Amino acid sequence: MKVKEASTNRHVLDSADLARCVHCGLCLDSCPTFRQTGLETESPRGRIQLISMIVEQQLEPKKNVLHHLDLCLGCRACEAVCPSGVPYGRILERARYRVLDKKDKDPKVALALLALRHVVANPPVLHWSFKALKLAKRAGLIDLFPGAFGLPEIIHEWAPPGLVLKPYTDSIKARVAFFLGCIMPYVYSDVHQASIELLRLAGCEVVICEQQRCCGALHAHVGDLKTSDALTEINERAFSQCDFDYLVVNSAGCGAHIREAYPHLGPKTRDLSELLVELGLPQCERAMDLTIVYHDPCHLRNVQKVYKEPRKLLHNIPGIKMFEVAHPETCCGSAGIYGFLEPKMSSMVTDEKLTELLENNPDIIVTANPGCQMQLTAGVRRLRRKTQIMHIAQFLAMAYGLGNSVNL
Ligand code: SF4
Ligand code: SF4
Repeated sequence: MKVKEASTNRHVLDSADLARCVHCGLCLDSCPTFRQTGLETESPRGRIQLISMIVEQQLEPKKNVLHHLDLCLGCRACEAVCPSGVPYGRILERARYRVLDKKDKDPKVALALLALRHVVANPPVLHWSFKALKLAKRAGLIDLFPGAFGLPEIIHEWAPPGLVLKPYTDSIKARVAFFLGCIMPYVYSDVHQASIELLRLAGCEVVICEQQRCCGALHAHVGDLKTSDALTEINERAFSQCDFDYLVVNSAGCGAHIREAYPHLGPKTRDLSELLVELGLPQCERAMDLTIVYHDPCHLRNVQKVYKEPRKLLHNIPGIKMFEVAHPETCCGSAGIYGFLEPKMSSMVTDEKLTELLENNPDIIVTANPGCQMQLTAGVRRLRRKTQIMHIAQFLAMAYGLGNSVNL
């Protein structure tokens, strides 16, 4: 099944967006690739300048020029600190869209686009791909690939959605649609189960709408805005068949994309931690003698501006000792498929992040995005550290002693 490409011209680079950069350099210290290299061309300011020169046809978008854009993680830490309000995420996506035809001959990019368009965006093909991956993992073949270090031990099978789950409270505080995403039901179905149980504990009736698909964030990040738009249309249609107050997302990258790119679903979208804080969880009775640190996913902190809520939920667990890192806004190196396209820089950024996160020898690093969870898991395994990486839903479900009553 092929995703029909939506035709649009609303992805044209806006020179007014580019002109907002006043070259102050206040974003430089927040940029992981600038911190790694010290190069202006690997900084937000430098990249905006390069894009402006390409738009004004002062610079040809040759391979060496475009590589500076490839090296950008899209973490938007620069956007979060920019005093001029430069919409860096929008600029980057549109710039990548503009030059996509120059990139899609690169074998790695071509392979990534093939997988994103014809596997990730296509549920039946995705299903059979994960079946094959499960067999390959059992045979030990996957472990031959260093990038697969972060994959969870168990790969689950897809189960059809269409469930309605009642809350554990006497009355329904909110009716929520739960966003499944593309790969999470296969590799992190336990995170989904934990999220749904927490929502029920907070008084939600949870519906799992049928026909939902990948949100299209990964496609947008590499510049394939047409496929991303097509997925937006499919999901808007699928969720319009369900009746709900909020769309709950437990993946920071998907949540940020839906909020920004979906005209109808966007305003109804909430991150899991936001809604749990808003509706309130009961007092946790179990004390946990653990030292933890919270890693902010970029698209939750820098884009959705959700960083107080996860901390509030974690601080409510009795016995927890939680410390903060010096640069909470910086990326872990995951950034969608960046680890596949730019493995060297991705590992360097991960190592820098882990140096901060592991400083006080935590028992657990808690995060709120599957990509970060996988990347950090791979990183601690590479460093041979015992620290566990958990999604906040898994951690809270453990603290509240919630079982898995949903068999996704
Ligand atoms: S992007 Fe913003 S912070 Fe960075 S140089 Fe431009 S105006 Fe300054
Ligand atoms: S998005 Fe992240 S990596 Fe890219 S320029 Fe901004 S801070 Fe640097």
